[in-house]
Amino acid sequence: MATPAGTFRADCTCGKVVFTVTGEPLAQFYCHCSDCSRYHSTHYVEVLVYRDKPDEESHIRLLEGEQYVNCFSSGGQVRHFCRECGTAVFNKKESSGMMGTFPVLLDGFKFQPTMHLYCSQSKAYLKGITDGLPKFKDLPTELGGTGEFAVAKWQREWSNSPTRCASPVPK
Ligand SMILES: [Zn+2]
Ligand SMILES: [Zn+2]
Repeated sequence: MATPAGTFRADCTCGKVVFTVTGEPLAQFYCHCSDCSRYHSTHYVEVLVYRDKPDEESHIRLLEGEQYVNCFSSGGQVRHFCRECGTAVFNKKESSGMMGTFPVLLDGFKFQPTMHLYCSQSKAYLKGITDGLPKFKDLPTELGGTGEFAVAKWQREWSNSPTRCASPVPK
């Protein structure tokens, strides 16, 4: 199925759940939090976060398979997944107007991460990551976190970085 420019199609492993993602993400990052890590059975997860306000058209739209989407809450997120194949499809943040999804599911999307988040919860694997991106203890202040870094030198690099979040967290 053709999709308009700037729209990416995504589906789950079994293909029953199909959705589209449109527009600029607020942030692109790797999440090391223990909830994401366990849920996805990996050390860290590639994540895209979008604005999600009830009075605006959603960036993430379900096209097919609503009856297969199940969800549960953990780590402040309502995590939606396909109940047939178990693929994590998207998350909704409970406390603020944001939604997240996973770039690996989006056909043709070029993932451009700018940071590592929740590094204080990371397991030993963090040491092996030498991509030069800042590693936050939790979140940058723009996303409601402390803005503290796992290692002090990243604080200075981040202050001068052109890759800070595209826009602040919506209130
Ligand atoms: Zn599925
Ligand atoms: Zn996480």
